[in-house]
Amino acid sequence: MSVAAELSAEPAGEAFVRFENVQKSYDGEILVVKDLNLDIPKGEFLTMLGPSGSGKTTSLMMLAGFEPATHGNIYLDGQSINNVPPNKRGIGMVFQNYALFPHMTVAENLAFPLHVRGLSKSEIETKVRQALEMVELPEMGGRRPAQLSGGQQQRVAVARALVFDPNLILMDEPLGALDKQLREQMQYEIKHIHENLGVTVVYVTHDQSEALTMSDRIAVFNDGVIQQLSTPDDLYERPQNSFVAQFIGENNKLHGKVTKLTDGIATVDLDGGEVVTAAAVNVVANGDRTTLSLRPERVEIEPKKSSVDNIVTGEIRELIYLGDHVRTRMSVAGNDEFIVKVPNSAGHKPLAEGAKVKVGWKAEDCRALDPLTS
Ligand code: ADP
Ligand code: MG
Repeated sequence: MSVAAELSAEPAGEAFVRFENVQKSYDGEILVVKDLNLDIPKGEFLTMLGPSGSGKTTSLMMLAGFEPATHGNIYLDGQSINNVPPNKRGIGMVFQNYALFPHMTVAENLAFPLHVRGLSKSEIETKVRQALEMVELPEMGGRRPAQLSGGQQQRVAVARALVFDPNLILMDEPLGALDKQLREQMQYEIKHIHENLGVTVVYVTHDQSEALTMSDRIAVFNDGVIQQLSTPDDLYERPQNSFVAQFIGENNKLHGKVTKLTDGIATVDLDGGEVVTAAAVNVVANGDRTTLSLRPERVEIEPKKSSVDNIVTGEIRELIYLGDHVRTRMSVAGNDEFIVKVPNSAGHKPLAEGAKVKVGWKAEDCRALDPLTS
């Protein structure tokens, strides 16, 4: 990993939120959060991304105070909050199913957290008006939630989480119920609100493109463990294991055994018989079994010898024309789901299903991961 990438993967300042050795078990046996250590600096947009059941919501609920940690400490602005009840943590929250009060108008919904905090009538009016302007619903204060669309309701929920000027906002799949177009629009709106207010956001989603769009950093969860914590581009360019490579973007896997290690380059005997070279990301020794990870857009079909380090023969199984590129499914080195994205401008003869072609890639674009000592 380059020095610049290493620096950008570090939080910019002091931790505003800190999880320290946090574990959670619901049944006293299985740890659904295993040993969570995570520092989130003030003003960051941090996303917890991972498949269903990986422990994202549980981690957020512990931060919100709705679930006690089984072990470890959570700090907010330097103070341990283990014994602080949820309503005293000063955290704004938006959830997919965190319904607005249906019997209250939009303005009354927004005023509610301010009444609770004892603000004056005129302060409340000002803040409610500002919050509605922020989510671009200035005329909607008099309506009831049922008179709004799903997207508008979710905007009101965002406004309600922000109306009391919290330092920290938690959002758990807040856009999950919206259709694709509205979801993408709301992603940008929430991102812009974050940029304008400078509030710290901890956001939960299972949708990798949502996480890439919105986040300063992403913590990739699997099985109650953070697999990698970094910026969106670093996660895509430099995944540290094949779970992350597979979860963020598309990935081809090839299995084999390391037979030589020199200057950060591993020579790997693939199970299909070919010998290739790859960046030795976290393989440690000769003889390790490894999984190679290779992005579909980094593979060239019929490459010039001088432009790649590795050339193997593959067979084309399926061609799908997608306008700017042809998605080509191949059989390569024993992997029948090997995907190559062939740009429309590629200057070779037209591809045909069933054809045998050469495919090639640079060693640096292929990452040797997941070492297993044999
Ligand atoms: P995610 O939000 O990543 O989908 P969760 O944190 O909701 O994951 O769940 C993590 C694990 O904890 C899952 O196996 C889930 O079944 C379990 N779990 C979540 N909430 C509870 C609960 N209230 N009681 C018991 N088990 C739970
Ligand atoms: Mg969840």
